[in-house]
Order: sequence, then C-alpha cells, then structure tokens
Amino acid sequence: MSATLMDGRAVSAAVRDKLALRVRELEAEGVKPHLAVVLVGEDPASQIYVRNKERACEKLGIRSTVLRLCAECTQAELEDTVRKLSADPQVHGILVQLPLPRHLDATPVIALIDPRKDVDGFTPVNAGKLLNGEKGFVACTPGGVMEILRHYDVPICGRNAVVVGRSNIVGKPMALLLLAQNATVTICHSRTKNLAQMTRGADILVAAVGKAGFITADMVKPGAVVVDVGINRVNGQVVGDVDFESVSEVAGFLTPVPGGVGQMTITMLLKNTLDAARLQMK
Ligand code: NDP
Repeated sequence: MSATLMDGRAVSAAVRDKLALRVRELEAEGVKPHLAVVLVGEDPASQIYVRNKERACEKLGIRSTVLRLCAECTQAELEDTVRKLSADPQVHGILVQLPLPRHLDATPVIALIDPRKDVDGFTPVNAGKLLNGEKGFVACTPGGVMEILRHYDVPICGRNAVVVGRSNIVGKPMALLLLAQNATVTICHSRTKNLAQMTRGADILVAAVGKAGFITADMVKPGAVVVDVGINRVNGQVVGDVDFESVSEVAGFLTPVPGGVGQMTITMLLKNTLDAARLQMK
C-alpha cells in the first residue's frame, strides 16, 4: 500500500477533545446542551445509529432525548412532534432520523425544524445558506470530510475536486463546501458519461455512491486524495464505495472504511449541537 491513510478516529478524537472543553464552558454558564432525536419505527440500522448518537452525547456531557414514534404514526403526528420540539426552549438541537417509513414524507417534516436547531443542516434555510456562502449549520458527513481534509493539510484551493453522488445529504453539500474553499468542482451521478475519465482528473475524489467497491484503481489519478463516504454491508462486513485494496496502491491519501468518514459524522453532530446551544443563548 502506498497511500497514507487518513484516520477518521484520530481526527474525531482530536475534535471531541476540543468539544469537551466547550461543553464545560457552556455548563459554567448554566447551559446543558440538549439534542432531541426523533426516531420513527424499528429500522435496525436507524436504531443502531440513534444508539451511537445517544452514547456519544452522553460521553461528551450533552443531554440527549430520543422520541420514539411507532412505524404506523401519521404525517400529522410526526409534524406535530417536530413542531413542539422547535418551540421547546429546553431543546437546542433536533434531528429526525432518516429514512422514514415509506408512507411519511421527510421534506415537510425537516422544513418544520427551527433552523437554529437544525443540527443536521438539512432545512431549506441552512441548505440555502450553504449555497449562498453564508454561515449556517452544515450537513454532518460533508462537514466531517472537510475536517479530515483540514487535519491532513490537504490543499483545496485551485485543485480539481470530483464528487461522485449528488444527494442532498452528502453529494451536493460536499460539492458546495469544496467550492467554498475554491476547488474546481465536478459533480458526477448515475447519468454521467465517461465517469472514469472524470474521476481520473480529480486531485480530490469523494465517493458517495452507495455501491461497494465502486471506485477502482483505474478511476484514480496517481497521488490523488480519495475520500470514501460509502457505508455498505457485504457478507456481514462494512465496506466503502472505494475498492480499498487496489486504490490504496494508487492514491496519495485515502480514508478507510470503517475508521474514516463515518467516525466524523457523529462528531460533527456533537459540534453542531454545541453551536446550536451557543446560538440560542444569544
Ligand atoms: P444516495 O443513494 O442518496 O445517493 C447516491 C448517489 O450516487 C446518487 O446521486 C446517484 O446518482 C449516485 N450514483 C448511483 N449509482 C451511480 C453510478 N453507477 N455512477 C455514478 N453515480 C451513481 O446515497 P447517499 O448520498 O445518502 O449516501 C451515499 C453513500 O454514503 C452510501 O453508501 C451511504 O451509506 C453513505 N453515507 C455515509 C455516511 C457516513 O456517516 N459515513 C452518512 C451518509 C451516507 P443519481 O442521483 O443519478 O441517482
């Protein structure tokens, strides 16, 4: 392997140490940051994600409350829950765990989150702020990728960045964050023609596709910085969107899966919750 691994666990630990100090500062000012998570139904992966978020909050000294709604709950019940949390001065951050059961529409639910409590950065207000280059809450996964790049002093300005994937929660905000740092950004998706030709032009390549081992060595420029956002379960193992074995021979820097970007997502959620608590003190 020639690539240097970008260790999400180490970056996460360094960021959480700083966050612990901020929790103490808030406590000294009489504020216990409070994250409310809305979980609908019994999706096993969502249950695990929510439990991990609860544990991370507890470890850092952030209060977390999980509101569990049954899988059959109505759109009105879910919207009412989010409306109440938005109005509750005791709650600083709100997260609606996705995906929701099929009969529920996430878009109007997310839009009901008070933008000052939108720790996932998914509301139209915060998504719009990112587009406009204004300060707001940034989606946790792409925010975490930027922290990793910062930690490893990856130059971004003027470099060619290619993001494979254009979802609202990863691909699009990722592209905007790289653009804000003056990268020349290309977004690729399932209709992109000559994908390998595009990715081979990337100094920084971000894979957010949701397909195990999708990015192979022949798609990577020698020495490129490759960030693997993917989380795929194959034969009981978690693997990324990047074919680690072959790409690690070509890339200059690479995030592993597990132990890369996934570690940062919860860390950025914690950071956003502290930012939200601070914002609401003003
Ligand atoms: P989505 O399914 O919402 O988006 C996948 C994107 O990949 C789409 O834009 C799609 O294009 C594109 N795509 C699919 N097939 C191809 C193809 N053959 N060629 C080029 N592009 C393609 O996924 P998410 O953005 O939500 O997640 C992406 C991955 O990141 C998943 O593995 C997910 O589990 C992981 N993830 C990891 C997180 C973490 O904490 N590390 C957090 C969130 C997600 P089109 O738009 O045209 O359909």
